[in-house]
Amino acid sequence: MSNANTAALAMRQVERLVKGQATSDGDGVKLTRVLTQDLQQRLDPFLMLDNFASDNPDDYIGGFPNHPHRGFETVTYMIAGRMRHRDSAGHEGLLQNGGVQWMTAGFGLTHSELPEQEEGLMEGFQLWLNLPARDKLCQPGYRDIQSQDIPEWTAPGVTVRVIAGSTQGVNGAVLRDAQTHPTQALMLDVHLAPGASFEHALPAAHNAFVFVYRGQALVGHSTVPRSHMAILSNSGSAVRLQATGEAVRALLIAGAPLREPIVQYGPFVMNTREELMTAVEDFSNGKMG
Ligand code: MN
Repeated sequence: MSNANTAALAMRQVERLVKGQATSDGDGVKLTRVLTQDLQQRLDPFLMLDNFASDNPDDYIGGFPNHPHRGFETVTYMIAGRMRHRDSAGHEGLLQNGGVQWMTAGFGLTHSELPEQEEGLMEGFQLWLNLPARDKLCQPGYRDIQSQDIPEWTAPGVTVRVIAGSTQGVNGAVLRDAQTHPTQALMLDVHLAPGASFEHALPAAHNAFVFVYRGQALVGHSTVPRSHMAILSNSGSAVRLQATGEAVRALLIAGAPLREPIVQYGPFVMNTREELMTAVEDFSNGKMG
């Protein structure tokens, strides 16, 4: 289905396809790092995207034991499986099928993310969203969003789960004011039946990418295979996804760039080396709980 509102808009095209890198993190969790450190400037304000998907418990059973974060937000989207979150700010939640956890690390906290299953499929994503310099040391925050609380926009052959931002007049589970949250993050999970398409208007200045996790999608004029990220060019005012063959599921993620220096040391992302050293010090002095 084509939406009349965007029919006259110039479509953004695919600038580059990225396959991601197989790696492991936490206690031996096997995952694909799709958005790697070398793409942080290009995809500002996004710092990382991991995709984990395995039905072999050896690949995930260790989970992510206690570790700190400072300076950004982590957004975890579980497609399948169950993971228990606990953090030093006193938040606890169970992440499961179709739910989202939106954690603002800000000043810093320590948390663990551990599987609550011993077998079966564990599949999901973790996205890191940067905070502007002025908010990097803000008070930590946490939101547990159950699957049924994620608004959806539907049309024949199309279901769009609106995790953050808004589309087609549907406000997402996370929708924040541009004054307080200048990155204006958009995160859509787009499900297309064979032949169906979806268009979304997007400011050209916003960096954007699509990650296809089922089927293969036509994005602009380019075919994007399963398990690939398509970085979108910054010209055009909308993006169009189409399922030409089998059914498609894809994440569409976009945001306004912060245009600030990005320095990362493991779980800390700040603007300067000095701030990183302070983060390491504060963590070792127990200031992150
Ligand atoms: Mn973490």
